[in-house]
Amino acid sequence: MNAMVGLGEKAVPGLPVWDAVVVGAGPAGSMTAHELARAGKRVLLLDRQQFPRWKVCGGTLSPGAQGLLAQSDLGGLLDSLGAGPLHTLRLGGWSITADLPLNGSRAVSRSALDAALIEAAVRRGAHFSAGVRVDLGELSGGVRTVELLGSEGPREVAARVVVAADGLASKLLAQAGLPAREPTAARRRVVGLGAVFPASSAPFEPGVIHMAVGREGYAGVVQVEDGSINVAAALDHEALRQAESPSALVQDLLAQGGWPSLPTTPSLGWRGTPGLTRRPERPGAERLLAVGDAAGYLEPFTGEGVFWSLSGARLIAPLVGRVGKTWDPRILTEWTNTHARLMKRAQRVCRATSWVLSRPLLTRSALRMLTSSPRLARPIVRRVGAPIVSRA
Ligand SMILES: Cc1cc2nc3c(=O)[nH]c(=O)nc-3n(C[C@H](O)[C@H](O)[C@H](O)COP(=O)(O)OP(=O)(O)OC[C@H]3O[C@@H](n4cnc5c(N)ncnc54)[C@H](O)[C@@H]3O)c2cc1C
Repeated sequence: MNAMVGLGEKAVPGLPVWDAVVVGAGPAGSMTAHELARAGKRVLLLDRQQFPRWKVCGGTLSPGAQGLLAQSDLGGLLDSLGAGPLHTLRLGGWSITADLPLNGSRAVSRSALDAALIEAAVRRGAHFSAGVRVDLGELSGGVRTVELLGSEGPREVAARVVVAADGLASKLLAQAGLPAREPTAARRRVVGLGAVFPASSAPFEPGVIHMAVGREGYAGVVQVEDGSINVAAALDHEALRQAESPSALVQDLLAQGGWPSLPTTPSLGWRGTPGLTRRPERPGAERLLAVGDAAGYLEPFTGEGVFWSLSGARLIAPLVGRVGKTWDPRILTEWTNTHARLMKRAQRVCRATSWVLSRPLLTRSALRMLTSSPRLARPIVRRVGAPIVSRA
């Protein structure tokens, strides 16, 4: 994808000033840039990587996320990418398997989805530059600066507000004195791990999420739009540290689930993530607002991360649009409260799921119950596979 940078108004001598600079072009950043550009704001979207790029993710887009795309006039995006429907969540572990019907989820690679969202933001008028590593700069004279390091060497830009959409364990928030921390009540540290395998690599049925659960965590396998096999796992950090290799641990989990083994060499990955349960004390500071995983993430099992990111983006855009020459601290308070409400909606099922999955006997009993009565899985399956009405 071509990198492109356009300059904002030069309100500070020598420094281009943007209404917003959005750091990170995952779903949260691209959707924020899209919504801001749609509202007529001058927005610069930056990412340190070149696109298309792959990222650790289950490759499942929930009906809720699809609904949000439609609300932003991006309803045809998944069709244009060839994202196929998912009809079954097949759970396996502790010598039991359970098939739970899904309705409405679709499989899509993050390489394709994220590149398409950036293109949509650029079409709306956002400026985008790839291959640019960003650091937080100073607050001065009604702007916040950021320092960019790309192929053209270092430079600085200024914005009325910087949006940190830079993913888990946000560096920008840490640079503002708000590092992501493990909640004190956390029972164990969970990290993500993922890889992609070529189309012909293993007999995983299209339209099915193969999910293996075990003592060390869980792993999901999905065939995405180009036929390749996307693997994503949430693993106990300690188990991962003690494993012979990350791939050996995932292969072992898949074997426990009763699923076929993967080839030795992936086409992309294996790649890990920072701790999934770490989050910052608050999602922003003066002229810095965080969205998506940067603001806090809960649990991958229900496959809703992109939904939360898109929801956050649609909710934060009007607040970002209100930031002017004089900083109004109520904007940060409003965002902190709105974000807390968004996360609260997700917390109950996520906490319950992670609590059950970390207890072998309970997991086994839950799988037995789900086999005999799939209706009991509704709180989970409703999220993965049926429309969630968005209040965004
Ligand atoms: C194992 C696992 C499975 C998952 N499965 C699913 C699933 O099936 N469905 C689902 O909806 N969600 C899933 N998720 C969650 C989903 O992947 C995330 O919630 C989502 O990617 C968050 O989007 P984001 O835009 O906030 O961050 P990201 O997608 O992480 O994007 C952040 C971007 O910021 C850029 N960046 C970071 N630092 C800088 C910097 N200093 N300068 C410039 N750029 C920077 C990065 O390059 C990156 O492109 C899963 C997560 C994990 C870990």
